[in-house]
Amino acid sequence: MRRIILSLFLFLPLLAAAKGAKDTRLIVFTIDGLRWQEVFTGADPALVGEPKMVRDTAELRQAFWRTTPEERRAVLMPFVWNSIVRNGVVIGNRNKNSMMQVANKTNISYPGYSEMMTGMVDEAIRSNNPVNNPHRNVLEAANEDVRYRGKVMMYGSWKSTRFAIHNEQAGIPASVSYEPNISSKQTSHLRLLDRMQAGMPHFWKSEHFDAFTFAYTLELLKTDHPKVMWVSFGDCDEWAHSNKYNLYLDAAHYTDAFIRDIYEACEADPFYRGKTVYLITCDHGRGSGEAWTGHGSSTKGSEATWFMIWGKGVNALGETAENGPFYTQQVAATIAQILGIDFMPDNGVRQQPIPYQ
Ligand SMILES: [Zn+2]
Repeated sequence: MRRIILSLFLFLPLLAAAKGAKDTRLIVFTIDGLRWQEVFTGADPALVGEPKMVRDTAELRQAFWRTTPEERRAVLMPFVWNSIVRNGVVIGNRNKNSMMQVANKTNISYPGYSEMMTGMVDEAIRSNNPVNNPHRNVLEAANEDVRYRGKVMMYGSWKSTRFAIHNEQAGIPASVSYEPNISSKQTSHLRLLDRMQAGMPHFWKSEHFDAFTFAYTLELLKTDHPKVMWVSFGDCDEWAHSNKYNLYLDAAHYTDAFIRDIYEACEADPFYRGKTVYLITCDHGRGSGEAWTGHGSSTKGSEATWFMIWGKGVNALGETAENGPFYTQQVAATIAQILGIDFMPDNGVRQQPIPYQ
């Protein structure tokens, strides 16, 4: 009897862990190329007054300029700085020596997303071309687990994001760029969104506006109840490459609101309420000063990334200081831990999850 009780005690925590993992849902948001500088200090004093890159400097100052970095970041991304920071963990403020960066040397998007999802760096992955990723990724591993099978989905603004998780082999339903919706129920709302997307100027060749990623995601959460979802936004990076600082800041601001609305919709739905972990990160940083528009192996500072997490089981540690460096390749291990799955990257090197408990 004593032995039975003892083994029961040994077994109970395992049962509890499995039960917790079983009920977990996860939404991963990525914001392509949004710099830590704007996330943590708001509008950049070196750029806000530049008529070459700002359509209306007075209008921009009114919207996003404030005296202190704390005020500026709160007016730029109010959901992050009024809500997420109070309920979760925010990493990457280099002014406080909280460090996160990509481990790959390219500082461009596809290698960044590949590193994030496959949990490793492959030095042969050096371009943004829409080609299948040769490596297994953590979303694919989740989709192979009986608890999440058929419930892993993705919406992405930029075409190449789907290839970073080599979608055909992995069998993860995904829609990117100008592709139509992937919902199992074709609501009139979704048909209208598809119609609007087809009928809008295709301003960027392989990337639609983030408003579509947002609206499609909100509907998918209702029609299909995915348990694991990657929502990949791209406007910030595109406007930065175009040297449009006002549009880049606008994009950071409305993306913050998109994430708030998706979070609030989830927490209003019993399928997600209290069971969901949310995380936001990015694929690379950018240069500073006049070099803010670009990123890449020769652009200083563009290796810098950031990370935030909140929701079920996440400690409210707030904005962290004096920690890291964490690497973007640790995101896959973090996702695996959240979902309670075993994930070994193809290079055989297990990364540590980013601490959040
Ligand atoms: Zn870019």
